Amino acid sequence: MDCVVFDVGGTTLRAARYLPAEGRLERIARVAAPTLWNSSEPGFESIWHRLRSEMTMLVESVLEGRNPDIVAVAFPGPLDPNGMLLAAPTVWGSLGNTAFPLRDQLASLWPDTVVLVLNDVTAAGYRYVSLGVSDFCLVTVSSGIGNKVFLGGSPVVGPFGRGGEIGHLRVDYSGDALECDCGVPGHLGAVGSGRGVLAAALRRARISPEAFSASVLARKTDTGTPRFDSVELAAAFRAGDAWATDVIDHAAAGLGRALAAIHAAIGVERFIIIGGFAFSLGESYRLRVVAAAALSCWSIGQDWDQMATFGIDDDDAGLLGAGHYAMRLRGGQ
Ligand SMILES: [Zn+2]
Repeated sequence: MDCVVFDVGGTTLRAARYLPAEGRLERIARVAAPTLWNSSEPGFESIWHRLRSEMTMLVESVLEGRNPDIVAVAFPGPLDPNGMLLAAPTVWGSLGNTAFPLRDQLASLWPDTVVLVLNDVTAAGYRYVSLGVSDFCLVTVSSGIGNKVFLGGSPVVGPFGRGGEIGHLRVDYSGDALECDCGVPGHLGAVGSGRGVLAAALRRARISPEAFSASVLARKTDTGTPRFDSVELAAAFRAGDAWATDVIDHAAAGLGRALAAIHAAIGVERFIIIGGFAFSLGESYRLRVVAAAALSCWSIGQDWDQMATFGIDDDDAGLLGAGHYAMRLRGGQ
């Protein structure tokens, strides 16, 4: 059986063939994801057209021209049970903020194929379900921030799939709060995601050049305009740069507060943190999130250091989870 899985990200579009018997991937392909943030024609139709073309080409390349039996797509936005996409800010900002029939649109690309769509963080969660973890909250910190709570091996997202979107919880109410990808200021996505933290750091460097001048990141600033990317920011943090640490402290505090709220609301005691930005910041970041979570709710015997841990550091969670989900729907697992 030919099952192709996709993980559509805010930065990278990944595809692979999923081998159900072994629960593994082959012919993994990665291309830059067509998004509002890298588009020369930043309209919804043009981004969607480029995305569709890339996906069609990837299926051809992954299956060497064969027609797929199943295509399972992990997509970065809330999806209702009918495959309607409610928003996808990391892909097209606030351009597509009305329900979009993602599953039907994708199904028209491969008419003789079973086409499945699911939220990307839900997909990543299924990877851990496939490994035997059943009650947990998966948290992803990459271009955006998302979460999904799984109970009994199934995601808890509400009747319309709106749950598990802590990235769009407002945590910064200040008048100059930066805008989230979704267009609203002060969301956790603007405060704690890779894209959000970089924007906040660049602004802070511009507003307070004196404080910034002591940072290793300032060495690249020869024109008066701060220039660094999130990889360099993470490297400065890992090296103990005080200015970068202050920036990351703020981001970790926002996330820790959100995790404490989830724990206080429903008692989930296992938080698995994944995502390129979180992994690039490393253990010292995790400890800051742990400390912020512990500070943000009462203490009745919880051990946040045990409760909030890193997941597996690779790019395959969405792909493997989408494959596991597809097989689960077919009753194969
Ligand atoms: Zn938002």
